[in-house]
Amino acid sequence: MINIVKLLEELVAIPSMNPMGSDRTGPEYSEGAVADFLASFLSRNGIDCETYEVMPGRKNLVGFVDAGAKKTIMLEAHLDTVPADNMEIDPFNPALKDGRIYGRGSCDTKASLAVFFGTAANVSVRRRDMKYNIQLLATCDEEHGFSGARAAAERGLRADFAVAGEPTGLRIVRAHKGVMRWKIKATGKASHSAYPELGQNAIYAMAKAVNRIASYASRLRNGRKHELLGSPSLSVGIINGGHTVNIVPDKCTIEIDRRLIPGETKESVLEAVTSLLNGLPSLEVEEPYLIAPSVNVDPSSEIVVALSRAVEDTLGEVVVEGANYATDAGVFNEAGTPSVVFGPGDIKDAHTSTESVDLSQVESATNILERLLF
Ligand SMILES: [Zn+2]
Repeated sequence: MINIVKLLEELVAIPSMNPMGSDRTGPEYSEGAVADFLASFLSRNGIDCETYEVMPGRKNLVGFVDAGAKKTIMLEAHLDTVPADNMEIDPFNPALKDGRIYGRGSCDTKASLAVFFGTAANVSVRRRDMKYNIQLLATCDEEHGFSGARAAAERGLRADFAVAGEPTGLRIVRAHKGVMRWKIKATGKASHSAYPELGQNAIYAMAKAVNRIASYASRLRNGRKHELLGSPSLSVGIINGGHTVNIVPDKCTIEIDRRLIPGETKESVLEAVTSLLNGLPSLEVEEPYLIAPSVNVDPSSEIVVALSRAVEDTLGEVVVEGANYATDAGVFNEAGTPSVVFGPGDIKDAHTSTESVDLSQVESATNILERLLF
């Protein structure tokens, strides 16, 4: 039998930090080593698998346990973690204390990886008794851009339904918001600040745009709501403009973070913002540099019903809820695989300077998954 806690410790000990769009490189800032480790773990346990590069050094891992069943469940978790700057604990030397494992990624989301991949190894000798074939997937780059999940979907990876492992505290997240980020640029004309009438001030142009966007953001909060997720939201998070104080600025850029509820699309969102800016000159709305779709799995769908039963049988109660954060599940749903989010650990412990996971949740998640599969 595979010891899931030992597997979790081994996974935490292999750094797989996401460079988060920075120019940081090297083995610690890629998922290659942890993907290779898990691939040899699966092979040793008789599970067919392969890895492939999504970007240099950044790998996805796929594996398959053929139970001869009609339906296939995908169990997915991401390999990357956020960086370990400013951590108050040793990030890659996992410590066991008070029933918790401490280390970067212990909660988000190597606990789910250990449960999914360790359980697949444990049940593969009993595969003929399983209700579902298992499609295993471990992705790179969830924390910044979801490109691993996208690459998997583009390669045609599908299943009848899926569980994306994230620290949901063993609650079933059947809906979550999507996210879209993009820039708007204002272009003006530079001049000496003593002769501002000779220039066109890009900051003034952008100020008018920001005003309209701010009132639109408050209208959004009071508009259409989703039963679990509430209203969509918009925030202007960055503004950059000007070179020095004695030059009339010719450029100003803002960056927008927009949280989408189910039913909203990239096109509908961009169209709303573009029409908002009608009549304001010199503005350019760029294509989004990040899009993660929302999730809205029907409460009566097979994965919600079957997983709910497994959770209730194990814990005595089940919570099905919505979440505001985006996950790989959005990409799989968009590609046609109903995908819920579920896993051990508390989202409040993720990304923190003392990241840890409660091992009783790891154990419960393992029991829940076994019940789901048989
Ligand atoms: Zn995560």
